[in-house]
Amino acid sequence: MARGIKLFRVLGIRVSIDYTWFIILVVFTWSLAFGYFPFKLPGFSTLTYFFMGLVSAILLFACVLIHELSHSYTSNRLGLEIKEITLFIFGGVAQLTKEPDDPKVELKIAIAGPAASLVLGILFWAASRVVNQAAHPIANSILSYLALINIVLLIFNMIPGFPLDGGRVFRAIWWARTGDVNRATRVASNIGKGFAIFLIVFGFFQIITGNFVGGLWSVLIGVFVQQAAESGYQQLLMKKALEGVKIGDVMSRNVVTVPDGMTITEAVEKYFFKYHFVSFPVMSDGRVVGLLALHNVRDVNKEKWDETRVREVMFKIGAGDCLSPDDSATDALTRMLSDHFGRFPVLDKKGELVGIVSRRDIMKLLEFKAGLRR
Ligand SMILES: [Zn+2]
Repeated sequence: MARGIKLFRVLGIRVSIDYTWFIILVVFTWSLAFGYFPFKLPGFSTLTYFFMGLVSAILLFACVLIHELSHSYTSNRLGLEIKEITLFIFGGVAQLTKEPDDPKVELKIAIAGPAASLVLGILFWAASRVVNQAAHPIANSILSYLALINIVLLIFNMIPGFPLDGGRVFRAIWWARTGDVNRATRVASNIGKGFAIFLIVFGFFQIITGNFVGGLWSVLIGVFVQQAAESGYQQLLMKKALEGVKIGDVMSRNVVTVPDGMTITEAVEKYFFKYHFVSFPVMSDGRVVGLLALHNVRDVNKEKWDETRVREVMFKIGAGDCLSPDDSATDALTRMLSDHFGRFPVLDKKGELVGIVSRRDIMKLLEFKAGLRR
């Protein structure tokens, strides 16, 4: 998830695009410019078709972005914070946040995206009526295509398999009726996987019968849905396993700290070589002021190790970058995944360092619990 290009911020949400997005942009432009538009609107030059393809592909991605923002905005409004979305192959993925505690909230968030696609579809359709086919054939074709594709997006997303929007709607309704979110998720994921298998088989069938490009799309989308269904369910299991677990239960208590005035040479000899930890909290006057990780050391030229102090290269941290023993492990893991920050010092109420917790500590607990279940 880390790979990608940050684009801009809108409604307080950071929007990034994954590198795969560029491949898809090229494929879409190409298939529109050489397939769809020449077929729909014959008699124009290759350059015109290329231009139409490119404009349509970019506008299509803008529509996907609006769909995703609509989910994220609703989610933020309802108190489930989403700070970043990444657009990639088949739409977008909001950065992992808390799962809703209430089926009504889930339902509202799930419905927001398809609702946006529906509105966009209607708007583009209306625009294609206004921009007359005879007078503006090119603009009209692009608008009609966008109306069509938004409705296709709507229908695809409303298929009732988790983690597609329709699957979330299905899960929310089942959950509201039975009160059993586990079972609701399992059923919705299984429908998602069943749909994925259908897409893959259907895709191969199309490839065999000569529709290579269409078939390939079908297989790719199927694989994507299959993986997302699996990981959506795994995420829920993970959340369940961590329910009620506090940071105090998983943190390491034997924390070895490094004074901030020490040189890199000393830190390497007395700490990294001796304890084999990948990072150490850095102390100044009894307070945690930073983390010194192996890569901070590696970034410094070896000849400078004797004259460089730990405080110059450490990753500086404030109170906001620390956890408390009472924090929930789920929240901490969410933060670690969304900030790409693998390790947090743990401070008690007086601000004293009592432990350190890493992603590995939490993962180890998860593995342990998974082992017990078998
Ligand atoms: Zn959606």
